[in-house]
Amino acid sequence: MSEQGDKHIHRTADGRILITVIPGDGIGPECVEATLSILEAAKAPLVYERREAGASVFRKGIESGVPEDTIESVRRTRVVLKGPLETPVGFGEKSANVTLRKLFETYANVRPVREWPNVRTPYSGRGVDLVVVRENVEDLYGGVEHMQTPGVAQTLKLITRKGSEKIARFAFELARAEGRKRVHCATKANIMKFTEGTLKRVFEEVAREYPEVEAQHIIVDNAAHQLVKKPEQFEVLVTTNMNGDILSDLTSGLIGGLGFAPSANIGAEVAIFEAVHGSAPKYAGKDVINPTAVLLSAVMMLRYLELFETAERIENALLCVLEEGKYLTGDVVGYDRGAKTSEYTRAIIGKLGERPKSAIARQYRPIRVPVLSPDPVAVRPSSRRQVGLDVFIESGNTPEILAAHIQNAIAALPFRLKMLSCRGTQVWPATGGITDLVDHYRARFLYTGTGEPSDADFLALLGALSTELRWMHVEKLQEFDGAPGFTKAQGEN
Ligand code: NAP
Repeated sequence: MSEQGDKHIHRTADGRILITVIPGDGIGPECVEATLSILEAAKAPLVYERREAGASVFRKGIESGVPEDTIESVRRTRVVLKGPLETPVGFGEKSANVTLRKLFETYANVRPVREWPNVRTPYSGRGVDLVVVRENVEDLYGGVEHMQTPGVAQTLKLITRKGSEKIARFAFELARAEGRKRVHCATKANIMKFTEGTLKRVFEEVAREYPEVEAQHIIVDNAAHQLVKKPEQFEVLVTTNMNGDILSDLTSGLIGGLGFAPSANIGAEVAIFEAVHGSAPKYAGKDVINPTAVLLSAVMMLRYLELFETAERIENALLCVLEEGKYLTGDVVGYDRGAKTSEYTRAIIGKLGERPKSAIARQYRPIRVPVLSPDPVAVRPSSRRQVGLDVFIESGNTPEILAAHIQNAIAALPFRLKMLSCRGTQVWPATGGITDLVDHYRARFLYTGTGEPSDADFLALLGALSTELRWMHVEKLQEFDGAPGFTKAQGEN
């Protein structure tokens, strides 16, 4: 692990910082232009390189939605301010947003929410002020999906120790940079002991290096419950990708909705700043939307670039406009009464240099972005052993008939059929439970020979099964340091 002081910032000859700006689709260009005019009025020392991504790019036939000159610009500037991107129906298989996040390994998705003056919600007055730190590249969003049988779909949930260490460390570094005292880690480690459990274990290890920050694990479903019941107890909440996706939309709802929800996608090399919201096409070009989420994303960008004074000036101007309550956008006061986006933007510019009366901008320090070596990282146990094989089999037979076929096929081999499961529940030997069946079984084979089974033994097993059955997927059963690297089926002893 190394630390990152300088953030690969590209400066022009006159000392300004070069950033890539992607206006995006739908309401994106309006939000981005409003933001750029405020940045300009605040004299932010930035130079912009405008690039395309999203719907217009998909329509040109570029399947990723991100053209080469945009990738080249991001590679050079390392800092991006972007509007929302659409994947138009019928174009592209992957989202251009996810492509950008993953291409540049922006592993931390940071989504702060706080209460805003005159933005009334059922939580007003409670002092909600928290940040969801969502792991941004692993988990179910790897998009590694297979149809296992014509009627059974599978997606791979991959969580790594390296990815968990980066995100856990990032959450504590963020707490330090923002003077926050508590970090919660929300996982479903009680059910997914290996995947979600990895983040929990690594979080608890990393927490020891940050003794001044209180670290607490919370089961994610309870986190959702607590966020609705008592959100003010949270300061930083670190979680896996899918959990974070859902919880951060929930937290946006606590403070007045998507119009006020900014985000940053931060990696060791590149950072992408964007609103949580999408392109809201029904409002595009109408000059009615709330540009605050993109503006606050730009404020996060200024802090990332350590332009703390400019960030605070803009945040204070925004707070002054909200406190005054004269220019509030339609999402806050209703579209029949709301200020135009352009009026709201001018009002913020007019307040630059003023300080809000009651609301305060938090004090920030530079964040140290954790960097783990980009080289492949291997966790090396002191011992490992193969003990068997799980083979996934497509079969329309009942468990009893399938088990008989399998036992017949492997009679001469040093393996024992330990059990069959269907959708994770043991169905042979029968447990007395009542389980719906589909044509997708897992057959668990334990090695009965001496020592360890070799790959030749496994191939012989698969060869024997292939004579009678259709298999589509295998997993080796391994032990690391004497502990099984596989879970039991529900009902398996
Ligand atoms: P959305 O664009 O976020 O809009 C959902 C609703 O949120 C809007 O109808 C509006 O609510 C409100 N809203 C969002 N932004 C607002 C703003 N700035 N000011 C005021 N109200 C705002 O979500 P969507 O309709 O599900 O998605 C539309 C497209 O955006 C899709 O193609 C999606 O894939 C894409 N998308 C992109 C990103 C991204 O680029 N990061 C993120 C999310 C979605 P009311 O209708 O209640 O007024």
